[in-house]
Amino acid sequence: MTATVTLRAPLSGVVLPLSQVPDPVFAGGMMGQGLAIEPLSSTLLAPCDGEISQLSSTGHAVALRAANGAEVLLHIGIDTVKLGGQGFAPRVRLGDRVRCGQPLVDIDIDSVAQRALSLITVVVVTNSDDMQLSSLASGAAGEMVQAGSSTLLDIRASGAQAGNSVAASGNSLGGQAVVAHESGLHARPAALLQHTARRFASHIDIGFGGKLASARSMVAIMGLGVGEGDTVSVHASGADAEAALAAMLAAVETRSEAGHAAAPLPASTLAARSDGKLGGVCAAPGLAVGTLVLLAEQDRTVPEHGTGVATELTALHGALAQVRGDIEADIALAGQRGARAESEIFGAHLALLDDPELSLAAERLIVDGSSAAHGYRSAIRAQSDVLLGLGNALLAERVGDLKDLERRVLDVLLGSAQGAPQLPAQAMVVADDLTPSQLTRLPRAQVAGLVLARGGASNHVAILARALGIPALVACGPAALQLPAGAEAVLDAGEGWLDAQPDAASLALARQQIAAHEARRLALREQSAGRALTRDGVHIEVAANVVNAAESRDAVLNGADGVGLLRTEFLFTERTDAPSSEEQRAACQAVLDALEGRPAIIRTLDAGGDKDVPYLPLPAEDNPALGLRGIRTSLAMPQVLDAQLSALLQLKPLSQLRILLPMVTDVADLLQVRQRIDELAAQLGLAERPQLGVMIEVPSAALLAAQLAEHADFLSIGTNDLTQYTLAMDRCHPALAARQDALHPAVLRLIALTVHGARQHGRWVGVCGALASDPLATPALVGLGVTELSVSPALVPEIKHRVRQLDAAACQELALTLQQQRSAAEVRAMLAAAANVVAQ
Ligand code: PEP
Ligand code: MG
Repeated sequence: MTATVTLRAPLSGVVLPLSQVPDPVFAGGMMGQGLAIEPLSSTLLAPCDGEISQLSSTGHAVALRAANGAEVLLHIGIDTVKLGGQGFAPRVRLGDRVRCGQPLVDIDIDSVAQRALSLITVVVVTNSDDMQLSSLASGAAGEMVQAGSSTLLDIRASGAQAGNSVAASGNSLGGQAVVAHESGLHARPAALLQHTARRFASHIDIGFGGKLASARSMVAIMGLGVGEGDTVSVHASGADAEAALAAMLAAVETRSEAGHAAAPLPASTLAARSDGKLGGVCAAPGLAVGTLVLLAEQDRTVPEHGTGVATELTALHGALAQVRGDIEADIALAGQRGARAESEIFGAHLALLDDPELSLAAERLIVDGSSAAHGYRSAIRAQSDVLLGLGNALLAERVGDLKDLERRVLDVLLGSAQGAPQLPAQAMVVADDLTPSQLTRLPRAQVAGLVLARGGASNHVAILARALGIPALVACGPAALQLPAGAEAVLDAGEGWLDAQPDAASLALARQQIAAHEARRLALREQSAGRALTRDGVHIEVAANVVNAAESRDAVLNGADGVGLLRTEFLFTERTDAPSSEEQRAACQAVLDALEGRPAIIRTLDAGGDKDVPYLPLPAEDNPALGLRGIRTSLAMPQVLDAQLSALLQLKPLSQLRILLPMVTDVADLLQVRQRIDELAAQLGLAERPQLGVMIEVPSAALLAAQLAEHADFLSIGTNDLTQYTLAMDRCHPALAARQDALHPAVLRLIALTVHGARQHGRWVGVCGALASDPLATPALVGLGVTELSVSPALVPEIKHRVRQLDAAACQELALTLQQQRSAAEVRAMLAAAANVVAQ
């Protein structure tokens, strides 16, 4: 393949740098690098040999693919799509092979000049990330060029684009690796490879089955259809090619689990049933009785044509930014609830949203005259077709994720966000398919079960259904959509069937079994109100993590001993202006009141890092997780901290309040806030001070626990962040989610150190991270000496029940052994095996 292609001027005229083009999209280089010409001739010529890869229906834009893979876009005039083709007469067709200098489009210069904003014609290489452009582009600025003869610039393909093979020399390197990822390069491994590739400047391609995919594109990687055990080639070219190649080969060869996939039922279960029931694949086990509700997919009208390239591109980028914010918010909320599967799935959506191939495909369509919505939808659907055509069931299941993105982006662009549908109580929701965010937006309390015509046991909706505890049957086929709406049905998802015409006896039996299950849940709740003592008499306070007063009331009903964590950054999520001190006081007082005398741990603002506080614009940071976050942010904004501390100090009674500081590094953070509390309390004439605790969320705090405990009233371990900072794994990283396990022995050792330090000063230690909500972890935490667990409100009864089964002394011994394990998996296995030893 030719490595370097020289572009000759497609028009005569004066050369301008792109920055002078009166269109921010071109000027900002969003469409790629290149230059512009103020034209003086009226026939657009091919700037090099190539194949016409795009030709807008209006004739104002044409792209050709050069021999070295460069995609050269020629866009005549600014906003000329609006002319609807008037003034442009194309002389080639899509797919034509053309020679350099061959006429492409005749331009009626006078007519276009009268009606267009500008005649400036842009020449950009839309895949310029993969190419090196000669400096002629800027050197020639201001010069006159002659169509067909003057040289404009050289485009040199880098890496595999130029046909560099494994054996190529220079800084182009290649190698091969066997894919170790379970089920091949599906969404999460593809996201991991993309993440790895983005760390390097080199151009990296992955080759398989005669196709090459840019490693910066998750979509392209998935599109290769690589299975587990397949051998792929990796090509890296650029200054850091060696390191890039080594990292990519390692990433390909490092196994990741497909994760959470339920075993599909044997095919026989899916065969047409003779008993009149509807058969399907179990996505989430469970028994349910409910009223069939059919959710119809709403088809929406999407305008095909745009109102101008710049306008549509701006709309697309705005919508992508908004959806990015929405997904990040969903991830944050899921993280607070400890809903790991959910945050992992939305993390993968974020990687898809950022995928350059998807947005570039949409941008190209927009340049061709599409509306933003039409362009994005077409790009998503083309990609879905690729995945569906690969004959790989796991990859085909990712189409649901693409659909979810399409729905979110179109909701923003068309302003037609559909709220949660109205459901009766105990709804058996039937749909062709659901996207993950459609499922999470259903009112959970009303959903008895889920039945989908499409889907698979390992798609993301299935994973979510399991995480949400909704019995679900998928892949039921079109017959699901013929179910009689309004009828009462029995679903036994574990057995793989739905009975839409149950007789009285089967209805009664199903109800009886559900009732027995519910009775256990209620019995646990019934006993939940009392203290949770281990069998050998150790009292463990079981409190709840809440975000507002309503959740606090719920927590009390579930038997919580108090609130163990109120995340104040989520009290005013809808606000874009900062809440006043008085508003903060009222919201926190409502939480205290809801607790009827029980204690409330209220954490000061934990802004920054993965937590966006809309009313507190923080500067962008290169490395937000390690930047201004938690108490550091509050100390950097004394007025914000003062407003919050004054609000807290005015709560009544102060004895019920415990203030908690997030992301404390060492005792200096604590002493500063303590001093400020003293000053504000003196100003308010208060004699009493609330208890003040610190979160143990970073290794330095755990290591210095004794110093912190000397000045703090209690310590509360945030296992979510402690795990992130101990393992040095981003808690939002989709590909690392499975390894972000707080039961890692390194984290357990830091918890042990924290308890040891706290005991030296007679302080108690709690855990308010998601680990506290995992019943498997309860013996470990009790054994490590933690005496307070703050969990999701709904899990209070379960965790109290678990505590009451335990023998604290046996747990203590177990905890010592757990710390000797080599991985979280070994710890989990040991906890599972020891469940009966430490409990009865
Ligand atoms: C934690 O880090 O475990 C914690 C409870 O804080 P957050 O999840 O709000 O960061
Ligand atoms: Mg935290």
